[in-house]
Amino acid sequence: MFGSAAALLLFRRESLFCRRWTDALPGSSRWGWGAGIGSPSCTALVVGGKRAAGRGVGMASPRPPKYLLVFDFDETIINENSDGDQGVKMGDFKTVYENIPLSPGMPDLFQFLSKNHELFEIILISDANMFGIECSLRAAGFYSLFRKIFSNPSGFDKRGKILTEYLAERAQEEVEFQRLFYVGDGANDFCPSATLTSADVAFPGRRKGYPMHRLIQEMEKQQPGAFRATVVPWESAAEVARYLQDVLKKKC
Ligand SMILES: [Mg+2]
Repeated sequence: MFGSAAALLLFRRESLFCRRWTDALPGSSRWGWGAGIGSPSCTALVVGGKRAAGRGVGMASPRPPKYLLVFDFDETIINENSDGDQGVKMGDFKTVYENIPLSPGMPDLFQFLSKNHELFEIILISDANMFGIECSLRAAGFYSLFRKIFSNPSGFDKRGKILTEYLAERAQEEVEFQRLFYVGDGANDFCPSATLTSADVAFPGRRKGYPMHRLIQEMEKQQPGAFRATVVPWESAAEVARYLQDVLKKKC
Protein backbone atom coordinates (compact mmCIF):
# COMPACT_ATOMS: atom_id res chain seq x y z
CA MET A 1 0.00 0.00 0.00
CA PHE A 2 1.11 3.54 -0.70
CA GLY A 3 -0.58 4.58 2.50
CA SER A 4 2.60 3.95 4.42
CA ALA A 5 4.08 6.83 6.35
CA ALA A 6 7.15 6.85 4.11
CA ALA A 7 5.14 7.07 0.91
CA LEU A 8 2.94 9.77 2.39
CA LEU A 9 5.91 11.83 3.50
CA LEU A 10 7.48 11.48 0.06
CA PHE A 11 4.28 12.55 -1.62
CA ARG A 12 3.80 15.46 0.75
CA ARG A 13 7.30 16.68 0.00
CA GLU A 14 6.62 16.37 -3.73
CA SER A 15 3.25 18.06 -3.42
CA LEU A 16 5.01 21.28 -2.42
CA PHE A 17 6.20 21.48 -6.00
CA CYS A 18 2.94 20.60 -7.66
CA ARG A 19 2.09 22.45 -10.79
CA ARG A 20 -0.89 22.78 -13.07
CA TRP A 21 -1.03 23.68 -16.70
CA THR A 22 -3.73 23.94 -19.29
CA ASP A 23 -3.38 22.34 -22.65
CA ALA A 24 -4.19 24.54 -25.64
CA LEU A 25 -6.12 21.80 -27.41
CA PRO A 26 -9.82 22.68 -27.80
CA GLY A 27 -12.16 20.76 -25.55
CA SER A 28 -9.47 19.30 -23.39
CA SER A 29 -7.56 20.25 -20.29
CA ARG A 30 -4.30 18.84 -19.07
CA TRP A 31 -3.33 18.53 -15.45
CA GLY A 32 0.02 17.75 -14.01
CA TRP A 33 1.14 17.33 -10.47
CA GLY A 34 4.82 16.74 -10.25
CA ALA A 35 7.99 17.00 -8.25
CA GLY A 36 9.67 19.00 -10.98
CA ILE A 37 10.48 18.96 -14.65
CA GLY A 38 11.01 15.45 -15.90
CA SER A 39 9.86 13.72 -12.73
CA PRO A 40 6.09 14.03 -12.49
CA SER A 41 4.60 12.08 -9.61
CA CYS A 42 0.98 12.48 -10.58
CA THR A 43 -0.15 13.29 -14.11
CA ALA A 44 -3.29 12.76 -16.08
CA LEU A 45 -5.15 13.94 -19.14
CA VAL A 46 -8.85 14.57 -18.75
CA VAL A 47 -11.10 15.25 -21.70
CA GLY A 48 -13.23 17.66 -19.72
CA GLY A 49 -15.07 19.37 -22.55
CA LYS A 50 -16.50 16.21 -24.00
CA ARG A 51 -17.50 14.86 -20.60
CA ALA A 52 -19.23 18.02 -19.51
CA ALA A 53 -21.27 18.03 -22.69
CA GLY A 54 -22.80 14.63 -21.93
CA ARG A 55 -23.56 12.17 -24.66
CA GLY A 56 -26.11 14.22 -26.58
CA VAL A 57 -27.43 13.12 -29.93
CA GLY A 58 -26.71 9.86 -31.62
CA MET A 59 -26.41 7.83 -28.44
CA ALA A 60 -26.50 4.12 -28.85
CA SER A 61 -29.36 2.01 -27.56
CA PRO A 62 -29.66 0.80 -24.85
CA ARG A 63 -28.88 4.08 -23.15
CA PRO A 64 -25.36 4.11 -21.71
CA PRO A 65 -24.83 4.96 -18.03
CA LYS A 66 -24.71 8.60 -16.97
CA TYR A 67 -22.20 8.27 -14.18
CA LEU A 68 -18.86 6.57 -13.64
CA LEU A 69 -18.14 5.36 -10.14
CA VAL A 70 -14.55 4.39 -9.33
CA PHE A 71 -13.70 2.32 -6.28
CA ASP A 72 -10.48 1.59 -4.49
CA PHE A 73 -10.48 -1.83 -2.75
CA ASP A 74 -8.27 -2.06 0.36
CA GLU A 75 -9.64 -0.07 3.28
CA THR A 76 -12.41 1.20 1.03
CA ILE A 77 -14.57 -1.71 -0.13
CA ILE A 78 -13.12 -3.92 2.55
CA ASN A 79 -12.31 -2.73 6.02
CA GLU A 80 -8.64 -3.71 6.01
CA ASN A 81 -5.58 -4.18 3.83
CA SER A 82 -5.92 -7.51 1.99
CA ASP A 83 -2.17 -7.68 1.32
CA GLY A 84 -1.35 -7.75 5.01
CA ASP A 85 0.26 -10.76 6.64
CA GLN A 86 -2.66 -13.14 6.94
CA GLY A 87 -0.55 -15.86 8.51
CA VAL A 88 -2.17 -18.59 6.45
CA LYS A 89 -1.16 -21.15 3.86
CA MET A 90 -1.71 -20.42 0.18
CA GLY A 91 -4.57 -22.89 0.00
CA ASP A 92 -6.43 -20.99 2.69
CA PHE A 93 -6.26 -17.62 0.98
CA LYS A 94 -9.59 -18.08 -0.77
CA THR A 95 -11.31 -18.60 2.55
CA VAL A 96 -9.49 -15.66 4.07
CA TYR A 97 -10.46 -13.31 1.25
CA GLU A 98 -14.05 -14.52 1.32
CA ASN A 99 -14.28 -13.70 5.00
CA ILE A 100 -12.75 -10.22 5.04
CA PRO A 101 -15.63 -7.99 6.11
CA LEU A 102 -16.82 -5.22 3.84
CA SER A 103 -16.46 -1.70 5.17
CA PRO A 104 -19.35 -0.31 7.23
CA GLY A 105 -22.27 0.60 4.99
CA MET A 106 -20.69 -0.92 1.87
CA PRO A 107 -23.47 -3.53 1.42
CA ASP A 108 -25.99 -0.65 1.54
CA LEU A 109 -24.05 1.23 -1.13
CA PHE A 110 -23.75 -1.87 -3.34
CA GLN A 111 -27.46 -2.59 -2.98
CA PHE A 112 -28.27 0.98 -3.97
CA LEU A 113 -26.00 0.62 -7.01
CA SER A 114 -27.60 -2.71 -7.91
CA LYS A 115 -31.01 -1.05 -7.94
CA ASN A 116 -29.70 1.78 -10.11
CA HIS A 117 -27.28 -0.20 -12.26
CA GLU A 118 -28.53 1.38 -15.48
CA LEU A 119 -27.27 4.78 -14.32
CA PHE A 120 -23.87 3.86 -12.93
CA GLU A 121 -20.89 2.28 -14.62
CA ILE A 122 -18.57 0.93 -11.93
CA ILE A 123 -14.89 0.12 -12.09
CA LEU A 124 -12.31 -0.80 -9.48
CA ILE A 125 -8.66 0.30 -9.40
CA SER A 126 -6.58 -1.34 -6.69
CA ASP A 127 -3.11 -2.41 -5.63
CA ALA A 128 -4.59 -5.63 -4.30
CA ASN A 129 -4.28 -8.87 -6.25
CA MET A 130 -7.04 -9.91 -8.64
CA PHE A 131 -7.58 -13.26 -6.92
CA GLY A 132 -8.34 -11.65 -3.59
CA ILE A 133 -10.57 -8.98 -5.08
CA GLU A 134 -12.60 -11.52 -7.04
CA CYS A 135 -12.93 -13.89 -4.07
CA SER A 136 -14.13 -11.08 -1.84
CA LEU A 137 -16.61 -9.56 -4.28
CA ARG A 138 -18.02 -12.93 -5.36
CA ALA A 139 -18.50 -13.99 -1.73
CA ALA A 140 -20.29 -10.73 -0.99
CA GLY A 141 -22.46 -11.21 -4.09
CA PHE A 142 -21.48 -7.96 -5.80
CA TYR A 143 -18.86 -9.05 -8.33
CA SER A 144 -21.19 -8.48 -11.28
CA LEU A 145 -21.57 -4.81 -10.38
CA PHE A 146 -18.10 -4.08 -11.74
CA ARG A 147 -17.58 -3.56 -15.44
CA LYS A 148 -13.81 -3.71 -15.11
CA ILE A 149 -11.23 -4.39 -12.41
CA PHE A 150 -7.69 -3.06 -12.63
CA SER A 151 -5.42 -4.76 -10.11
CA ASN A 152 -1.82 -4.36 -9.05
CA PRO A 153 -1.01 -1.09 -10.82
CA SER A 154 2.61 -0.25 -10.11
CA GLY A 155 3.93 3.27 -9.66
CA PHE A 156 2.50 6.16 -7.74
CA ASP A 157 0.88 7.77 -10.76
CA LYS A 158 -0.63 4.61 -12.21
CA ARG A 159 -4.21 5.04 -11.00
CA GLY A 160 -4.59 8.44 -12.61
CA LYS A 161 -3.24 7.05 -15.87
CA ILE A 162 -5.61 4.08 -15.75
CA LEU A 163 -8.60 6.34 -15.15
CA THR A 164 -7.57 8.72 -17.93
CA GLU A 165 -7.10 5.87 -20.40
CA TYR A 166 -10.40 4.29 -19.38
CA LEU A 167 -12.28 7.54 -20.01
CA ALA A 168 -10.60 7.91 -23.40
CA GLU A 169 -11.47 4.31 -24.30
CA ARG A 170 -15.11 4.78 -23.31
CA ALA A 171 -15.28 8.10 -25.17
CA GLN A 172 -14.15 6.27 -28.31
CA GLU A 173 -17.06 3.92 -27.71
CA GLU A 174 -19.32 6.99 -27.49
CA VAL A 175 -19.85 6.69 -23.75
CA GLU A 176 -19.11 9.99 -22.08
CA PHE A 177 -20.06 10.39 -18.47
CA GLN A 178 -21.81 13.42 -17.05
CA ARG A 179 -20.16 13.01 -13.68
CA LEU A 180 -17.45 10.94 -12.03
CA PHE A 181 -17.47 9.68 -8.48
CA TYR A 182 -14.30 8.38 -6.82
CA VAL A 183 -14.37 6.41 -3.57
CA GLY A 184 -11.00 5.81 -1.93
CA ASP A 185 -8.88 6.22 1.15
CA GLY A 186 -5.14 6.24 0.42
CA ALA A 187 -2.49 8.63 -0.85
CA ASN A 188 -2.55 6.75 -4.16
CA ASP A 189 -6.22 7.69 -4.58
CA PHE A 190 -5.30 11.35 -4.44
CA CYS A 191 -3.74 11.55 -7.94
CA PRO A 192 -6.79 10.30 -9.84
CA SER A 193 -9.14 12.37 -7.68
CA ALA A 194 -7.07 15.48 -8.45
CA THR A 195 -7.98 15.03 -12.13
CA LEU A 196 -11.70 15.28 -11.39
CA THR A 197 -13.65 18.32 -12.56
CA SER A 198 -16.05 20.58 -10.67
CA ALA A 199 -18.94 18.37 -11.78
CA ASP A 200 -17.42 15.37 -10.02
CA VAL A 201 -17.29 14.15 -6.44
CA ALA A 202 -14.41 12.67 -4.44
CA PHE A 203 -15.40 10.48 -1.51
CA PRO A 204 -12.33 10.16 0.76
CA GLY A 205 -12.73 7.77 3.66
CA ARG A 206 -11.96 9.64 6.86
CA ARG A 207 -11.79 6.68 9.16
CA LYS A 208 -8.48 6.62 11.02
CA GLY A 209 -7.44 9.83 9.30
CA TYR A 210 -6.80 8.19 5.96
CA PRO A 211 -4.32 9.96 3.64
CA MET A 212 -6.55 10.77 0.64
CA HIS A 213 -8.64 13.12 2.76
CA ARG A 214 -5.61 14.69 4.42
CA LEU A 215 -3.90 15.30 1.06
CA ILE A 216 -7.04 16.93 -0.36
CA GLN A 217 -7.27 19.17 2.71
CA GLU A 218 -3.59 20.03 2.38
CA MET A 219 -4.02 20.91 -1.29
CA GLU A 220 -7.05 23.05 -0.55
CA LYS A 221 -5.02 24.96 2.04
CA GLN A 222 -2.01 25.47 -0.22
CA GLN A 223 -3.88 26.17 -3.43
CA PRO A 224 -7.53 27.06 -2.81
CA GLY A 225 -9.69 26.00 -5.73
CA ALA A 226 -7.04 23.75 -7.26
CA PHE A 227 -8.90 20.61 -6.20
CA ARG A 228 -11.98 21.03 -8.33
CA ALA A 229 -14.25 18.15 -7.35
CA THR A 230 -16.75 18.34 -4.52
CA VAL A 231 -15.32 16.56 -1.48
CA VAL A 232 -17.59 14.34 0.58
CA PRO A 233 -15.73 12.54 3.39
CA TRP A 234 -17.34 9.38 4.70
CA GLU A 235 -17.08 7.01 7.62
CA SER A 236 -19.83 4.65 6.50
CA ALA A 237 -20.40 3.91 2.82
CA ALA A 238 -24.10 4.40 3.56
CA GLU A 239 -23.22 8.12 3.51
CA VAL A 240 -21.96 7.69 -0.07
CA ALA A 241 -25.20 5.91 -0.96
CA ARG A 242 -27.26 8.76 0.52
CA TYR A 243 -25.28 11.33 -1.44
CA LEU A 244 -25.76 9.42 -4.69
CA GLN A 245 -29.45 9.07 -3.89
CA ASP A 246 -29.61 12.87 -3.65
CA VAL A 247 -27.76 13.13 -6.96
CA LEU A 248 -30.49 11.06 -8.58
CA LYS A 249 -33.09 13.32 -6.96
CA LYS A 250 -31.07 16.24 -8.34
CA LYS A 251 -30.51 17.68 -4.90
CA CYS A 252 -26.76 17.87 -5.46
MG1 LIG B 1 -7.07 1.79 -0.23
